[in-house]
Amino acid sequence: MVISAVSSVNTYNNTGFQTNPIERKHETAKLIVPMMNRARVEKSSGEALRSYFMGGQAATMRGIPCSTGDFAIKKLDDVPCCCCGDRMIRGQEMPHVVHSFSELKGSALADKIEKDKDYFRANQRAAAMIIADEARKDENLDVSEAFDKAKNNLQGKIKNYCTNVLTNLNEVAAQAYGREDNPMSALALKEIENVKNGKIARVPFTEKLEQLKGDLPLEKYEKVLDTAMNLPEGMRAVEKIFTKQKGADSSAAIINKLLTGALHTAEHVHPKSLGGPNSTANYLGECALCNNPRGNMSYAQWLKIHPEYPIKVQEHIEYVEQKIVDGEIPAEYDSYPVDINETLTKESNGMMTLKVLNPEKIRELREQRLAGKEVNVSEVTKEIFDKQEEEREETQAA
Ligand SMILES: [Zn+2]
Repeated sequence: MVISAVSSVNTYNNTGFQTNPIERKHETAKLIVPMMNRARVEKSSGEALRSYFMGGQAATMRGIPCSTGDFAIKKLDDVPCCCCGDRMIRGQEMPHVVHSFSELKGSALADKIEKDKDYFRANQRAAAMIIADEARKDENLDVSEAFDKAKNNLQGKIKNYCTNVLTNLNEVAAQAYGREDNPMSALALKEIENVKNGKIARVPFTEKLEQLKGDLPLEKYEKVLDTAMNLPEGMRAVEKIFTKQKGADSSAAIINKLLTGALHTAEHVHPKSLGGPNSTANYLGECALCNNPRGNMSYAQWLKIHPEYPIKVQEHIEYVEQKIVDGEIPAEYDSYPVDINETLTKESNGMMTLKVLNPEKIRELREQRLAGKEVNVSEVTKEIFDKQEEEREETQAA
C-alpha cells in the first residue's frame, strides 16, 4: 500500500509531469538547474505564469482575506516547511528558542543541538553539529566558547561531519534498495574519498544522485535526498559561518544567526508581484530559507527542480489539518485545505493535486475529538483516498 501523498505524486509523475504541454513549452536550458539546489536557482520573473490567475481571475480566489502576519498557521510551533519539510520557528517564539540553546553548556548543549537539528538548515546544520561536538568534549563550554574552539582545524571537522553524513547516506540507500550493493551507496563511498581531499560540493553530488534514481520509488528516493541535504554547499560555506564573526559574539547572537533560516514565513503560492492576493487560500507556511528561491518561477519549472515538493506539501497540509481538527487553529480554517489545494492545482496547471479533507469531514473529525476520541488525520486521509482509488478501479474493471 502506498501512502496517500505518494500515490498523488505518482499520478503526477506518470501523467501530468511528462505530458503537460505547458511544461514542454518551458523546456529550456534553465530547466536543467540541478535539483535540491535552492541557492543557485535562478529567479525568472520573465517567466510569466500561464495559469488561470493571469486573466485577472485571482479575485475569485476563496479563503479569508488576511495579512501574512495574521495567517493562523504561522502562529503554530514546529510546523514542517511546505518545501524542505524541516521544522519552522514562529517569529514570536524565536527569542525563546535561541535562549533554550544559549543557556546550555557541555553535553546538555550537544544533546539539545542533536535533538533539534531540524531547526538548522544545510550549512548552518553542519556548523551547529561541529559546535555540538566541541561542547561534548568539555562540560564548561557554552555556544560562544564551543564556536571559538571549532575554529581550530575547522577543515578537518567539516570533512569529518561530511563523512558522517555520507556514511549515513550509504546506509539509507542500502535500506531504500534492500541491498548493500547499490549505485547510490557506491556513489556515497566514492564521495567520502573526495571529502578526504577537501572536495565538498553538494550540488554536483545531488545531481549524480538524480541521475541514478532510476526506478527507485519517489518516497524511498526522498529519504536518500533528505540525507544528502545534510551536506553543506561546500567547505567555504561552512568556514564563512565561523570566520565572518570575530569571536566576541554572545552565544545568543551566534545561535540566532544559525536559526534564521527556520523562521516561519507565509509563501504566496501565486506570487505577490504577479498580483497574488493576501488571502489564506494563497498562503503556504514556508521557512525563510525556502521562501525566496522560487521567486516568480512557474510550478512547471519548480517541480522539475524539486520533484519531492508535492510530498512535502502533502505532509505540511496533513499537519495543518490535524491542528484544525485538534482545535489549535480556528474553525474558520475548515475550508483552508480545500482552498489551498484548488490554488495549487490551478497554479501548477493541474500538475499537482493534494489529498485534502473537505470542511464537512473536518467538522466531523473535530466533533469526534471533542467527544474524546483519538483522530489521526494522515490515517483518515489514507483510508478515504485508498477507498476512492479502489472504487475507481472497480468501476474501470466493470
Ligand atoms: Zn524550508
